[in-house]
Amino acid sequence: MSSVDFASLGISAPVLKAVLQLGYEQPSPVQEASIPILLEGKNLLGTAQTGTGKTAAFALPFLSVLDEKQKSPQILVLTPTRELAIQVAEAFQSYAKHIKGFHVLPIYGGADIGGQLRGLKRGAQVVVGTPGRMLDHLRRRSLDLSNIKGLILDEADEMLRMGFIDDVETILAKTPPECQRALFSATMPPAIKRVADKYLGDAEVVSIQNKTKTVERIAQSHLMVKGHQKMDALTRILDVEQFDGMIIFVRTKSSTLEIAEKLEARGFSSAALNGDLTQTLRERTINRLKKGQLDIVVATDVAARGLDVERISHVINYDVPYDNESYVHRIGRTGRAGREGKAIMFVTQKETRMLRSIERSTRQPISSFNLPSNEEVSGQRIALFKEQLVGMCKSTKLDKFHSLVKEVAAENEIDMVLLAAALAFEAQKERPLFPKMVAIDTPRASAGDRNERKPRERSDRNERPDRNERKDRSDRSQRPDRAPKPPRDKGPTVDGEGNEVAMITYRIEVGRNDDVSPKNIVGAIANEAEIDAQFIGHIKLHDDYSTVDLPEGMPKQLFDHLYKVRVCQKPLKISVDNGTAGEQRNAKPSGGKRDKPSFSKDKPAFKGKPKAHRGADSAPRKPSKRPATDRK
Ligand code: AMP
Repeated sequence: MSSVDFASLGISAPVLKAVLQLGYEQPSPVQEASIPILLEGKNLLGTAQTGTGKTAAFALPFLSVLDEKQKSPQILVLTPTRELAIQVAEAFQSYAKHIKGFHVLPIYGGADIGGQLRGLKRGAQVVVGTPGRMLDHLRRRSLDLSNIKGLILDEADEMLRMGFIDDVETILAKTPPECQRALFSATMPPAIKRVADKYLGDAEVVSIQNKTKTVERIAQSHLMVKGHQKMDALTRILDVEQFDGMIIFVRTKSSTLEIAEKLEARGFSSAALNGDLTQTLRERTINRLKKGQLDIVVATDVAARGLDVERISHVINYDVPYDNESYVHRIGRTGRAGREGKAIMFVTQKETRMLRSIERSTRQPISSFNLPSNEEVSGQRIALFKEQLVGMCKSTKLDKFHSLVKEVAAENEIDMVLLAAALAFEAQKERPLFPKMVAIDTPRASAGDRNERKPRERSDRNERPDRNERKDRSDRSQRPDRAPKPPRDKGPTVDGEGNEVAMITYRIEVGRNDDVSPKNIVGAIANEAEIDAQFIGHIKLHDDYSTVDLPEGMPKQLFDHLYKVRVCQKPLKISVDNGTAGEQRNAKPSGGKRDKPSFSKDKPAFKGKPKAHRGADSAPRKPSKRPATDRK
C-alpha cells in the first residue's frame, strides 16, 4: 500500500465524504492507479479481480463527474451476473450517498421487467445490468444510450466465458463513440483484448503487479467462510489456537472498532489500530501489545505498516488483502526475530481467485484450515478449566469456602462430589464447557482459477452457443426466481418426510409501490437464506409492505441476515407479522401477535444455514487474561 489518500486523488467532495464515512482509510492499489486516469477522461484497461477494490476504482471517478440533473443514463455498467449487478449497484448507491437526486438501477434477466421499465422511465443516472436484459431494453427502446458518458465492462472475461461477448459488442456499438470506457477483467484472453483494441482505443493499462515473494517460517492456511459467519469462525479459532500476540487484519476503520469491541465482549483483550489514532495512542497500543498487556490488535493495513512486535504468533486475514504485496506484508508481522508464525486467511467464495493468485505469487500453497470442532473447543475449555481449578486449590486461601461447602453438604446431606459438580456447573455458565456451537459453513475453495459465481459451464469453452441458447442462459444465470414458484395453495407445507411444517407469517417492508413481485421475494429469500423454495409459503403483496409465510424457528443469524437483504433496492427489514395484516397458517400455537420470532435450532427448512445466532461459544466472557482498555 502506498501513502496516497483518497483526498489527494481528486474525487469530488460528496463522493470523498461517503468513502470516508464508509471507513475506507486508503485507496487500494487498483484504485490508486485507476482513479486519476478515469478522472482525466481517459479509457482504461484494468487487470483486477474481485477483492481488489475494483468497483470503487471505477465508481468513484465516474460518480465524481456525474451530472445529477440529467436523469437519463450517463453511466452504464455491464456485468456478467445478476448478483454482481446488484452488488455494483449497491456500491454506487453507497458512494453516491451525498449526491442529491442520485438514482442507480440494476437491470437483469429473470426479474420483473415492468419494474425496470418504470425505473428507467423515472430516470437513473447509472444503470448496471447484464447484457441479455440490457439488449432487451434496447430493443424495447426503454434504455436510452444517447447520453452515456461512461461505460464500464466489469468482469469482462466472465462475460466472455458465459457467451455474452456478442451481446456486449452490440451494446458497445450502440454507445456514443466519444463516451469514456473502462474494462476490468481478471484475465486478458485474446477475445477480450480484441474488444479492448476495437472499442477502447489507446486505453491506459492498469495491472496490479504480482511480484513473487517467498514467505518462510510462516505456516499459512485459509478458511472458506461466508461473510456473516466470520466472527463465529474467529471466536472458535481464538478458543483453540494457542497464541501469544495476534493481529487481525480488516479493510476499514469501522471494522477495526467493531471487531475489537466484539472480541472484548467475548473476553479477549483486544484493541483497534487504525489511521484515526493519534501517534501517541498508536504507540501506546503497540507498547501494550509488546509488553503482553494486550493480546489482540485489530488493524487496517495502513495502521499496521512497519509494526514489529516479536510476540505476534498469529496473523488473521479477516478480510482478504487487496493484492499479493499486501498479503506478504500482513503475514510478515508474524514470524519475527526468527520465531515461528501462523497466518490464517478468511476467504469468501467469490474471493477464491484472490487466494489462488496469492498462492501463485508466493509460490506456496495455502492449505485449508480445519475449523476446530465442538469437541476440540470443549476439550480446550475443559483443560483450561481444570488448570484453573487446580491452580486455585494450590494458591488461593480457601479456608472460609472450605467450611462453607462442608456446611452445605452436611446440612443437606449432599455428596461432596455432587456439590463440586454443581459449583463447576455454575462456574462454567458464562463459558460453557460443553458448548453447542453455531454451524459454520466452510465450503471448499475451487481448485481452479475460476470466478465462484458458478455460471454455467460448457465442456468446450470455445464452443459458441446459438443465440437463443445464450439468451436462455443469460436469463437463467441471472434469474432471481430460479426457485420454483411459491406454493399458492393454502394447504399445509410439508417436509421431505411428509410432516407438516409449522409456518409463521413474516412482514417485509417492500410492497407493490416498490414494484416488487412474488418471484422477486422468493428469489431473494431462496438465494440469500438458502431456504428450500418448497418452504417458502404464501406471499401477499400490499402497497408498501408484503407478507410471506416461512417455517417457524428461523435461526436468529439468518433472520438478522434477511433483515438486511435488499429487494427492489430496499432492505427487507423482516419482522414477524403482528397479525394485523397476515395470518398464521398451520402454525403451532404461536400467539398470533408476536413481534419477535422464536429462534430454534433444528429445522430442516433451514438446513443450509447456521442453526443459531450466537452459539454458546460466542456469548460468554472468557476470564480475560487482562482487561482491555485501549479500545477507542
Ligand atoms: P471489490 O473488489 O470491488 O469487489 O471490493 C471488495 C470489498 O472491498 C468491498 O467490500 C469494498 O467495500 C471494499 N473496499 C474497496 N475499496 C476499499 C478501500 N479503499 N478501503 C476499504 N475497503 C475497501
